[in-house]
Amino acid sequence: MSASATTRQPAIFYGHGSPMNTLGSNRHTEAWRRSGVVGPRPRAILAISAHWYLNEIAVTAMARPRTIHDFYGFPAALHAFDYPAPGDPALAERVRALLAPLPVRTDHDRGLDHGTWSVLAHVYPAADVPVVQLSLDARHDTAFHYDLGRRLGALREEGVRIVGSGNAVHHLGLLARREDALPYDWALAFEAQVRDRVLRDEVAQLIDCQGFGEAARLAVPTPEHYLPMLVVLGARRPDDRVTILTEGIESGSIGMLSFALGQAAA
Ligand code: ZN
Repeated sequence: MSASATTRQPAIFYGHGSPMNTLGSNRHTEAWRRSGVVGPRPRAILAISAHWYLNEIAVTAMARPRTIHDFYGFPAALHAFDYPAPGDPALAERVRALLAPLPVRTDHDRGLDHGTWSVLAHVYPAADVPVVQLSLDARHDTAFHYDLGRRLGALREEGVRIVGSGNAVHHLGLLARREDALPYDWALAFEAQVRDRVLRDEVAQLIDCQGFGEAARLAVPTPEHYLPMLVVLGARRPDDRVTILTEGIESGSIGMLSFALGQAAA
């Protein structure tokens, strides 16, 4: 099946930041919201979240995924938040077929984590687009996750929107207590480098992110928030237009860079 760039679903990376973004409204969540009303409506979403980081690959395959509250210490309203989007067992099987012969476990228990629903709560607030979640595989590197995206890119021509949720800059240990804290210089520099390299399609440098040097060591102290972006980049097509949805550093050390591949300008 072929599809023109106008019917192909975008692949989008969201920098999700604090779980509290679920309940609030700010310039980032507004940009997320707009991304849900631009372009063709997807028949389903394949979500890759920083918060499902396993020593294997798994895919949610239940008809009714639960809303997981995989954090603690947040207000009761966030712990009570429900995102009742249906699952899509047929899409889970399609993902397994596309990734074969890699073994992919079908998961019937877990549900959707806050990396997925804190963003989708704004993108599709009615929770009426089916969602399947694919895990990251902690045994493997950035190049492996880029290749996952390459294998999954065909889904975009099948009405499926590929959504990565993480943060290109993510250092919780250096998180500032004040929300309006000034960004660290290295955080600003690294996010700008990532943005420019996404715009210039410099994939090799994004895969080898530690080649950025000291800023990369601070911005990506652990891989799980960076890897969802690599899956999205793997699904890129040569004629995709890149739209920067939002960017900027929150709480000193969290990069909110979000971008869409293949989508008309918001
Ligand atoms: Zn996170």
